[in-house]
Amino acid sequence: MPAAERFALYLSKHRLKMTRERRALLEHVLSVRGHFDVDDLLRRLGRTGHRVSRATLYRNLPVLVESGLIHKVEMARGQARYERMVGRHHHDHMVCLGCGDILEFESPEVERIQEEVCRRKRFVMTGHTHQIRGYCGSCAGDGRARGKER
Ligand SMILES: [Zn+2]
Ligand SMILES: [Zn+2]
Ligand SMILES: [Zn+2]
Repeated sequence: MPAAERFALYLSKHRLKMTRERRALLEHVLSVRGHFDVDDLLRRLGRTGHRVSRATLYRNLPVLVESGLIHKVEMARGQARYERMVGRHHHDHMVCLGCGDILEFESPEVERIQEEVCRRKRFVMTGHTHQIRGYCGSCAGDGRARGKER
């Protein structure tokens, strides 16, 4: 099912309307490659002449996340980045607390163990976010990794 249809379906299921703002937001979010934050998105929307306020983004990004079309990566200090999930394989993240780099990884073993743990708890998993915080190779190298999370 095309992303716009999936989003429309999700919205109607939750008694929300497909507004022009939401449609523009969806289109833009799906056109971004890689991880982006709210400021990146505001800049992109501004360049195309779409007037979408920061408040609108803060209100609607969670809706897009819940619909499963985008994924949220929690950064340090309550910051967040997003990425489109449409047309992408499931993957998990390592977030560097030093430079803010996001490394993607896929591990069949980790996936299998998570499924196994759920089975044991008789928990029906509909999705998961597995995220590792720490320091990337170059940040760990210059001694910044000695302290705990800042
Ligand atoms: Zn995973
Ligand atoms: Zn780093
Ligand atoms: Zn990712």
